[in-house]
Amino acid sequence: MPVMSEMSSAPRISAPLRLLILGGSADANRLVGALARDPRIDAVLSFAGRTENPIKPPIPCRIGGFGGVQGLIDYLRSERIDRVVDATHPFAAQMSAHAVEACAAAGVPLLALDRAPWQPQRGDHWIEVDTMEQAVAALGTAPRRVFLGIGRQQLELFAAAPQHSYLVRLVDAPRAPLPLPKVEIVVGRGPFTRANDGAMLRQFGAEMVVAKNAGGEATVAKIEAARDLGLPVVMVRRPVTPPRPTVTSVIEVLDWLDQAVAPMERGV
Ligand code: NAP
Repeated sequence: MPVMSEMSSAPRISAPLRLLILGGSADANRLVGALARDPRIDAVLSFAGRTENPIKPPIPCRIGGFGGVQGLIDYLRSERIDRVVDATHPFAAQMSAHAVEACAAAGVPLLALDRAPWQPQRGDHWIEVDTMEQAVAALGTAPRRVFLGIGRQQLELFAAAPQHSYLVRLVDAPRAPLPLPKVEIVVGRGPFTRANDGAMLRQFGAEMVVAKNAGGEATVAKIEAARDLGLPVVMVRRPVTPPRPTVTSVIEVLDWLDQAVAPMERGV
C-alpha cells in the first residue's frame, strides 16, 4: 500500500521540518514516541478533544477541531506546516477527508498512517455490516446480553433496541446516564488483553459483541476473546476515505520524513 513515489517531486525542507500529526490513535502515539527526540522534526500532535484525560504526549500538542477544511487550511498556513501525517483512527473519516482537501489546497504533502483491518479467522463468527444502525438491527429482536466495544459516540443508536442488556466499555466514565435502559459500564483504556477481555465477557454473560473494524493490536483482544468463547461479533466495516498516499507502519512514515528533510541537515 505505500505510495512514496508521489512525494519525490516535493521540495526538500531544511531542518527542522514542521510536521502536523493528526492523532487520537495508538498509531499516532507510537509515531510521536519515535519522533520525540528527533531534532530535525518540529512536530505538533493534534487531538479532537474527545477524551477527557489524553495521555500526555512527549511533544507539543493542540486540542480541538480546526473549524472545517478552511480552518485546517488556515492552520497549515499560519503554522507554516511542511508535512501532515494523518494518524487518526480509521473511523475518523471526516477528519481524514478534510485533511486530503486542505492539504491539496495548501500544497502541503500528506501521508496517512493506516493499519490494515482485521480479517476473520478460523473460529470467528462475524456478522459484517456497514453502519452502526445496521449493527443495532443485527442484534435481533430477542433480548440478548451484548458487549459494546465501540466507544462513546454512537451509543445512543442502541436506545432503539432497549430489549438488550448492554455492557459498554468507555475511556472516560460518563458524566450523565447513558441513554440505554439496561446498561453496565466498564471504564478502561487499551491496549487490552485477550485473557482479561475473556474474563470480562464471561462475567457479564455476553452473548454477542459489537465492534468497529479498527485493525491493529490495541483493541483486538475483544475479538480474540469472542473467538475463544464462540460468541458472534457484529463487525462494522470501515467508512470510506478519499484516496491518499498511505503506509501501514511507523517506520514507513519515518522514511517519508527522511526523504523530506534536506540531506545536508541529516544528523544535526
Ligand atoms: P471525525 O468524525 O472524523 O471528525 C469530526 C471532527 O472532529 C473533524 O471534522 C474535526 O473538526 C475534529 N477532529 C477529528 N480528529 C481531529 C484531530 N485529530 N485533531 C483536531 N480535530 C479533529 O472524527 P471522530 O470519529 O469524531 O473521532 C475524533 C477523534 O477521536 C479522532 O482524532 C480519532 O482519531 C479519535 N478516535 C476515533 C474513534 C472512532 O471510532 N471514530 C476511535 C478512537 C479514537 P473540524 O472540522 O472542526 O476540524
